Amino acid sequence: MFPKRWFPHPLKLMLLLVIVGVIQESKAASFCTKADQCALDEEIKTVGAPAPLQARYDHTRIYQVELASEEHVRIFQALELASDSCSFMGHARQPGQKLTIMVTAAKVADFDDLVHSYNVTHRVLNHNFQALIDANYREVAPEGTSPDQFDWKRYHSLEGINAWLENLAKKYPEVVTLVQLGLSTQGRPIQGVKIAFGGENRTTVFIESGIHAREWIAPATATYIIDRLVNSEDPAIQELARSQNWYIFPTVNPDGYRYTFQGDRMWRKNRALFGICRGVDLNRNFPFHWNVTGASGDPCRYDYSGPSAGSEVETQRMIEFIKDRVESERIRTFLALHSYSQMIMFPYGHSAERVDNYQDLKEIGQLAAKKIYDLSGRIYKSGSIYETIYPSAGGSKDWTHGELKIPITFSYELRGPADSEDLFILSAKEIEPTAIEAFASIKTIVEEAGKRGYYQ
Ligand SMILES: [Zn+2]
Repeated sequence: MFPKRWFPHPLKLMLLLVIVGVIQESKAASFCTKADQCALDEEIKTVGAPAPLQARYDHTRIYQVELASEEHVRIFQALELASDSCSFMGHARQPGQKLTIMVTAAKVADFDDLVHSYNVTHRVLNHNFQALIDANYREVAPEGTSPDQFDWKRYHSLEGINAWLENLAKKYPEVVTLVQLGLSTQGRPIQGVKIAFGGENRTTVFIESGIHAREWIAPATATYIIDRLVNSEDPAIQELARSQNWYIFPTVNPDGYRYTFQGDRMWRKNRALFGICRGVDLNRNFPFHWNVTGASGDPCRYDYSGPSAGSEVETQRMIEFIKDRVESERIRTFLALHSYSQMIMFPYGHSAERVDNYQDLKEIGQLAAKKIYDLSGRIYKSGSIYETIYPSAGGSKDWTHGELKIPITFSYELRGPADSEDLFILSAKEIEPTAIEAFASIKTIVEEAGKRGYYQ
């Protein structure tokens, strides 16, 4: 009935059972399409869906493999297509590449057999991913934490972040304005702030964060940046804060972020429903060389680019918002926060084609990376997306640079390192050091771009 690769994933199995239940209960005997997804959501509720189940990763292992030959590349490309039990962090592309793969407990023996059968050099980065997730959930501020207790020693829920933003705008009405991009797929506000100390003819920095739900360090870093811009007493930071206007959106994918707390800590996409699977990778959905590389056409995949370019409401709201203001508010800098891998990257992702100001972006990126190294000793790589991480199309920074001509455009992969054993599950004690080094490097980017005349 289904292609084999659709079958064993527990989330899909659960969804399938729910849908089967719906079909039996109601007379709507067909899978929904995107157009009637709300109707189906409604039906699931009326059937009496259980309290949210949480995905489990007990004895799920994280492997790192080294692809030594074309044969290895082909094997892992085939494995990614064939098995839902192996979640790839990136795709197999070329010999010499290291690849991180999450393997569910039921497939560990098969996977181990495979790497030995083909002499693939490998190591196990983690033997029980659930333990890491359990520890991480214990680092979340409890529900109902007052905005005055907001900090960077714990992770915060969507509600916690929004309450903190609202509180900040109330406290500093002259400087901080609450801004909504619009509503998400499931109707949640996409909330951020504008920080403006006044003054004529400022240019604007736009910071997008949390487009990938599971990358919790990104919203944590974005809120830190907001706090420092508003509250720092360091004259150099105050000067930076006043030199620009700032739009900062900590969680542009609120449905996905919320789902990482309630359903699946490893969720990445938005929560739009397509048949038996959910979610578009919003950072593959932007209308610039959409879907040409490094994205999937299958809604069950983690990097599904969507049914069409700019199909998702989250993407559309961002596009409209930035387009409307790029000239009137002189948006000259666009930064996107992701994790992990420790990289500071500039366009393009879809091809090796160099942007017009490649040399400036390369030098500025290297200075930003050096700032981090001097501060914490962490090594961040800098370069174009295509040459640094992996080819991918439809990302927001390619669109802002290629389509809107915003000249200073970077996206960060924050901590941990590329061979991280924790993947996206960064311990909360890393929030402050990560945010401090990222903010310092953003200061470098803005100052360097200013020196090179980008804000005149
Ligand atoms: Zn990301």
